[in-house]
Amino acid sequence: MDSKTNQFKAEIAEMLDLVVNSLYSKKEIFLRELVSNASDAIDRAKYLGLTEKDLVADNPEWAIEIAVDKTAKTMMVSDNGIGMDAEDMEKNLGTIASSGTKAFRQALKEKGGDALPELIGQFGVGFYAAFMVADKVRVVSKKRGTSSAFMWESSMDGSYTISDATREAFGTSIMLHFRDDQTEYLDYWRVSELIKKYSDFIAYPIKFRQIDIPKDEKDEDKKWREERESKPLNTMVALWKRNKKDVKPEEYNEFYKHLTRDWEDPFETIPFSGEGQVEFKALLFIPKKATMEMFMPHEKRGLSLYVRNVFIGDDMEMLLPPYLRFVKGVVDSADLPLNVSREMLQDDAIIAKIKSAVTAKILSTLETMKKDAAKYGDFWKAFGSLLKEGVHTDYQNAERLKKLLKYPTARGEAGKLVFLEDYVKDMPSEQKDIYYIIAEREEDARRAPQIEQARKHGADVLLFCDPVDEYLTESLREFDGKKFVDLARGDVRFGSEAEQKAENEANEKAAGELKGFLETVKKTLESSVSDVKLSTRLADSPCCLVAKENAMPPSMVRMMRAMGQDVPEEKRILELNSSHPLIKKMASMKGAELDDAIALLYDSALIAEGSPVTDGARFGKLISALMMK
Ligand code: ADP
Repeated sequence: MDSKTNQFKAEIAEMLDLVVNSLYSKKEIFLRELVSNASDAIDRAKYLGLTEKDLVADNPEWAIEIAVDKTAKTMMVSDNGIGMDAEDMEKNLGTIASSGTKAFRQALKEKGGDALPELIGQFGVGFYAAFMVADKVRVVSKKRGTSSAFMWESSMDGSYTISDATREAFGTSIMLHFRDDQTEYLDYWRVSELIKKYSDFIAYPIKFRQIDIPKDEKDEDKKWREERESKPLNTMVALWKRNKKDVKPEEYNEFYKHLTRDWEDPFETIPFSGEGQVEFKALLFIPKKATMEMFMPHEKRGLSLYVRNVFIGDDMEMLLPPYLRFVKGVVDSADLPLNVSREMLQDDAIIAKIKSAVTAKILSTLETMKKDAAKYGDFWKAFGSLLKEGVHTDYQNAERLKKLLKYPTARGEAGKLVFLEDYVKDMPSEQKDIYYIIAEREEDARRAPQIEQARKHGADVLLFCDPVDEYLTESLREFDGKKFVDLARGDVRFGSEAEQKAENEANEKAAGELKGFLETVKKTLESSVSDVKLSTRLADSPCCLVAKENAMPPSMVRMMRAMGQDVPEEKRILELNSSHPLIKKMASMKGAELDDAIALLYDSALIAEGSPVTDGARFGKLISALMMK
């Protein structure tokens, strides 16, 4: 091919600029990134080689080499992994996955340059970390299964060049030309220290080699050099196989970063082994923060799978139920055949057993974490809505999951969440059900007129304001033998039997007195509401809207419409507070004055729940007229 020079996509140029000029103190992590990529490339070659024998016909001894040349100020990180052809180079080293580009820029803008290392990791562009220490990077690679080698080169001037190259062996070499102030990485001790620190668990030997050997090298120097070049810098022990007592937290943390490309330490580390029906070792992690991908339905998820130390694949989604997709980690089992395909694993009985053991372990970890309110609070903030998904989808564990849910309540101050068992514990003795109200915003839920009587009777109300809460109501059903009741639908009654009886009598009497008025309201609002009734749930507000027992929640209707579905208008019931002075006053109005008051009353009910009024212009006119009076 002709040598081809391309401009980096604008985003990358911008990013490189930031990388180069970043004052980030831990520039050393560039080595971890390159070694990680090399290890991944070998993993891939090894895995593909299981089925495509031609790819590994050279019978490789898998290894990674770090070769330094002090005179030329270069370091070359080489592997004999899968390799890249020109197209791969263009795709992998010239662009950020297009789906991520926009998000990256956005995050960069929001968080600023300081967050750069974290963002590089989060967006899977670790390779560019090389430019923190090097002013020129050259990649030479020969892809397994092909016969030509290619070179990718860039000096951070906004462009890169891809051209033909020569390389005997399959694999990739990344050569960095260090900047003058970054030559510390040419030193054996520094490199050795970094590998121990960040990459000790890498499963392939990482060897050190010196390129520029002085012609007059002394015998003892030669001996020492050969000795250090003969053994790997890393111990290569699979962390999940080691006794957790013998593993330092930093080792777990570095492994986590290698595995996930997260730049932060994990929030929780869960090493454990499965015994009994299936034997396996697992090392699981809960990250500190949710990534955007966790909320994209088709993004990669799942654990990495090893069979007897051999890497089978990452993103094994069959090892985790979808709602636990925030959990990262590794499972290693000797009970699976080496030659398994993803498809076979999909409905493998052993996998199903591992999945349920892994799920149980994660849930029990969260149950323990629950005792530490602050810690669980942080977890909940990051991943709570995913657990809610589990109540809906994991029938088997739904009861356990319900105990892990937290909600804001009408009584608690903003930001304070309670577990369902705490809610139940605080229920007044006469309260039989668990009350909730759905709204888009917590403020609206707190102010909802529908919860007034409940509050007056000393009952607290769960505020369901997360978009998934609404779907969840279907699956929640009961907790501790108590039904979940939406205070904005159907009939609700509060207080003791005697109180309810007295209320019935008062309501019957009021209904008789207000009969004509109620009929007029119903007739006037015919096109908007299905019925007008006296309320048992209001205390201070004159009116509210409630759904029929089996109606769809209004926000779901809004959402389905937004998705283009034709959802017929389901009219709600307007409930009036017969003891409210406004209702009493309206009952004595007539003609146009009454019509206007009824229209305003209805609009005020909409506004109270955060819904838009039906006819804004008319509403405005009525309000001005009212103010003039
Ligand atoms: P990430 O590794 O998170 O995907 P990087 O920017 O580090 O992001 O690397 C981009 C891509 O370049 C990798 O996904 C891989 O496809 C390719 N790549 C990088 N280093 C190597 C290597 N040593 N061998 C083969 N492919 C590589």
